[in-house]
Amino acid sequence: MVSEPVRVRPNPNQVDQDYAYTYSALSVFWPESEFHALIARWPQLADHLGTTWDEHRRRVERHCAICERSGLRVEQLPADVPGFEVTLADRGVTCPEKDDLMAHPDLRSVTTRTLAWPPARTAPCWCGSGRKYKQCCRRHGLGDLD
Ligand SMILES: [Zn+2]
Repeated sequence: MVSEPVRVRPNPNQVDQDYAYTYSALSVFWPESEFHALIARWPQLADHLGTTWDEHRRRVERHCAICERSGLRVEQLPADVPGFEVTLADRGVTCPEKDDLMAHPDLRSVTTRTLAWPPARTAPCWCGSGRKYKQCCRRHGLGDLD
């Protein structure tokens, strides 16, 4: 069950004179070390992100696959705890919940480069494991993407 709402935004590189924006689905993920730091500090967020790193990246992969299947371009954005702290401070929150995760990052101020998903089959996996995508998270997608 994937419960994460899809966040979409106009693709900044594809705005034409007819205002025919294309939209990208943005999938925020937590790299392994950031995931562990996040959950250690705010265990309640595991309900929304997954209780383990493997569960988190499995959820992210499925989310991306579902978005792509619905016709959206998919971009990924890695999140980090210091950046999340800024979001929480802006929101006046000390005990974050799902809404705070969804508000992060503030898409108006994102400067981190997004990554196009999916990677090539033989390219390094997006999750940072160092393995090829086809041998790593790809198999956790919808299962019938070949
Ligand atoms: Zn992976």
